[in-house]
Amino acid sequence: MGLALQVQQIASVHPEKIAYHFMGKDTTYAQFDESVEQFAHGLQGLGIQKGDHVGFLLGNTPHFLISLYATMRLGATAVPINPIYTPDEISYIVKNSDAKAIIALDALLPLVEKAANVFTTVENYIICETQADTTEKLAGLSHDLKVKVKTFSSLLAISGEQVQPVEVSDEDTAVILYTSGTTGHPKGAMLTYNNIFSNARDVAEYLSINTDDRVIATLPVFHVFALTVVVNAPLLMGATILLVPRFSPQEVFAIAREQKATVFAGVPTMYNFLYQFPEENVEDFSTIRLAISGGSSLPVALLHNFEDKFGVRISEGYGLSEASPVTCFNPIDRDRKPGSIGTNIVNVENKVVNELGEEVPIGEVGELIVRGPNVMKGYYKMPEETENAIRDGWLYTGDLARQDEEGYFYIVDRKKDLIIVGGYNVYPREVEEVLFEHPSIIEAAVVGVPDPTFGEEVLAFVVKKDTSLTEEQLQEYCAEKLAKYKVPKRFEFLKELPKNTTGKILRRSLKGQTVQ
Ligand code: AMP
Repeated sequence: MGLALQVQQIASVHPEKIAYHFMGKDTTYAQFDESVEQFAHGLQGLGIQKGDHVGFLLGNTPHFLISLYATMRLGATAVPINPIYTPDEISYIVKNSDAKAIIALDALLPLVEKAANVFTTVENYIICETQADTTEKLAGLSHDLKVKVKTFSSLLAISGEQVQPVEVSDEDTAVILYTSGTTGHPKGAMLTYNNIFSNARDVAEYLSINTDDRVIATLPVFHVFALTVVVNAPLLMGATILLVPRFSPQEVFAIAREQKATVFAGVPTMYNFLYQFPEENVEDFSTIRLAISGGSSLPVALLHNFEDKFGVRISEGYGLSEASPVTCFNPIDRDRKPGSIGTNIVNVENKVVNELGEEVPIGEVGELIVRGPNVMKGYYKMPEETENAIRDGWLYTGDLARQDEEGYFYIVDRKKDLIIVGGYNVYPREVEEVLFEHPSIIEAAVVGVPDPTFGEEVLAFVVKKDTSLTEEQLQEYCAEKLAKYKVPKRFEFLKELPKNTTGKILRRSLKGQTVQ
């Protein structure tokens, strides 16, 4: 059964169960299902059919949930786009994805007005009214644009109408997720209905997400981690989503306390913010039974500090957009291993291979490759990149990893972040783990920069707690814990590290900041 139908099923069996909570208001599965049906009917009225692409410029509000499930009910394809991307980035994705309609927050009206003439495939804009003066702004649009613009609420207005039934096959594309990629423009990973359904189901099973769970959704919903872990998996199991539009420790602690949340999912940066938050909020997390980390590596020192402070066990997992995303998780019923991304989730295989694609012995580092029902169909309109990424049915992740005797995987680093100093490999993560253990360091990132003698040298960026901390002290501290060639030659102190909206440290931008 598909995801969209599962919501219908839950609505018919448990109509009063809360599907989501947003800004103090509960919405039941019956109400959610009705909104999805009405909105899908509205989209159908605008000519959206199976196979059409619908761009979302939305954040963590009910508009996203309704739009996603309505699009899926029609067998169409959702293209979630980060609404705070620059106009150029948004334009690239809208054009590249051949979106036929766009559902956007009203705050993006100026961008829509500016770009509408180059968005040649877009026939309709559906604008969410979240600001007091949206109606006024809409009235001021040019005539040409006005005929293409509808409001979100007008599509929800016609109640009692049924969507014309649509045959959706498992292999149809449910979402296209644009991933940043290492070079050039982002690539659109096409995830089928089966990809996202199977991953939501397998993650829910592995983590025992169930109908009693109340899951905090503060990860940005347009990103694949949130899409599966805090949106699709909970909805599939009839759990409750607690929408937090914008991450802040205050908001997360408040919602956890008031709504008796049971599951929190975040990226390591969020864990760091929660841990560093000066006020005493330990009790707020007392109902959390499971804390999930993913998206980038969780420093072991942070994992222990967080667990000691809040008394909550963190389960770290791993994934990537191309795998819908989850491939590994630490088990919650057996001992999880700090620093590890856990073991294969149900139905998914992970393997560590050498340059020839052959499996390497236990303990050796190689590239992590993945196979399973969660692996994408390919990149949209990029057959060469697809062939390069998926070989013999295995997805090449571009991440270096090793496996232990018990089947746990460890991400060593991204292949492209490896630093080579005089022929020796330095994995930034290893150095960062040591820096994170320092009591006066809030966060740290390590990059390689060109060096005339050694090819590359290690440079560390540090955000410090204690302003008296010096470069010499850090060099001494690292020299005690790391081989000489791994000790950063230089340390730069920053107020904060540059990160993208999903909390990943932007190493490229750090490299760009270096004075060579
Ligand atoms: P995205 O497609 O934006 O989800 O990014 C996927 C990338 O995030 C992976 O290829 C990894 O480099 C990184 N990643 C995700 N989870 C982890 C983790 N637990 N540890 C280390 N890196 C991770």
